Amino acid sequence: MKIHLLRAFTSGLLLLVFISCGNSGQKNRDSGISRIVSLNEESGTPLILERQDQDCTSKDALNFIGEQTVEVYLGGAKENYVSKNIDHSILRGLPSLNSPAIWKTTWGAYYREKNGIGGHSFTITRPEKNLIFCKTKQTYSLQSIESAGLSATIGIDQAHQLHLSASSNKLSKVHLSILPYYQEIVTERSEKQSDVLISSSRIYTDNAFYHHGQKGIYYLPQSVEAIADRNPMPFWKMPFVGAHEYGHHILKSYAHPHHSVIDKLLMEQKGCFKSPINSSKKAISLTNFNLETNNYITSVALKAFHEGFADLVAHYAFGSTGGPKMDAIGCMNKTRNANSRYFNDSKEKYLSEHELDIYFGVTESGRTRGCETNYSDSHHIGAIIAYGVNQLFSTQTSDYKEKAKLLFKWAAELRPLVSSNPNYTKENASTYFTYLAINKALKVMGISAVDSINNPKECKVLKNVFPFMTSASSNYSLCQ
Ligand SMILES: [Zn+2]
Repeated sequence: MKIHLLRAFTSGLLLLVFISCGNSGQKNRDSGISRIVSLNEESGTPLILERQDQDCTSKDALNFIGEQTVEVYLGGAKENYVSKNIDHSILRGLPSLNSPAIWKTTWGAYYREKNGIGGHSFTITRPEKNLIFCKTKQTYSLQSIESAGLSATIGIDQAHQLHLSASSNKLSKVHLSILPYYQEIVTERSEKQSDVLISSSRIYTDNAFYHHGQKGIYYLPQSVEAIADRNPMPFWKMPFVGAHEYGHHILKSYAHPHHSVIDKLLMEQKGCFKSPINSSKKAISLTNFNLETNNYITSVALKAFHEGFADLVAHYAFGSTGGPKMDAIGCMNKTRNANSRYFNDSKEKYLSEHELDIYFGVTESGRTRGCETNYSDSHHIGAIIAYGVNQLFSTQTSDYKEKAKLLFKWAAELRPLVSSNPNYTKENASTYFTYLAINKALKVMGISAVDSINNPKECKVLKNVFPFMTSASSNYSLCQ
């Protein structure tokens, strides 16, 4: 095997990928030639593993498409295609390459996004390649891109199935991008000298996200540090992640299918499972409200609903099997569990004006460390929304499919809300969208604000989880 090391790999860690492809004894074009590319950038030190496409022979063909088991070998012992930390009972469905949810699976793309002065642009600077699987029976290393691609489809397919079973709406297919090199270049004016422009570059690793503009699910490469730590587990090995990302696709399709301004604003965050390191929330200018401000406020609020909604999709998609384990990512097993009343740091999940003001940047938030709940993080506000909305739905049904029906109806109700750009004022900026959106959740349950007083169960949820609702509206304030 000829290994081509394109650049010196300075961290001292060397991860070899060996992919055996086609073992028929015939001479294959390019067979066995693999190369490893490591890019040691100053930021994020991403590791990108590449493999040349191989021309496999069809001997030992095994109906690969659709009903293929993938064997991986880890430390010499045969394993299933996902890691030990996953509850295998939830993985009955095998990943299929002709997934009904995915129109193409690619790997190794170089994406470059530019933001700031000069506007916004998204380009593919190096062509992505289709992820090709040999038609012969293969063994894919746990580290292989193939294994990553196959594992990633499990959660996506599961969420797609949930949607099929609970709604007659058709969704467009997504693009699944495995291990893209995602670079963002931000150009802004220097704070000290306004005539000086500063460009900073950032490479995203160790996360997964949904790209609203591209309708794509991106599984970012692991950084060298993450691989060395074996923590967190690669995101493609956690079915919760794929189901969550597909949840974003569902909500986008229902609530803002053709809203490029909102799409772009939502894309300021590229990571569904950790707060971006340098996340700085712009404080909302409360002096001059204009359309831009309105869209911004809507997008900030919607971001939290997106995270909550996507968590609920993942939660319902895996149903009564106990749900996907989130322990593999630190601080998430309670926080991102829609059934859990508490965050990982034991804080109770509820939203009053106080938490919303922190989220919207109206009130300064204290520093949070480690696993502490962070109300300026859309995932944490989203976790409260997921918990509360699930509690509301639970007053009517305990069946996940029935809850999913309510969930998708709710998503459709959010569309006019997003496009109408609610009439924000200085006073209601941080609560208004959230108030209207929770109202829509009650609406799909057949409850209007006026008769909320007659619904003690719903009232209880509003008082316990969404107390800002009871102070924002006289109808809800009558809740006993
Ligand atoms: Zn997300």
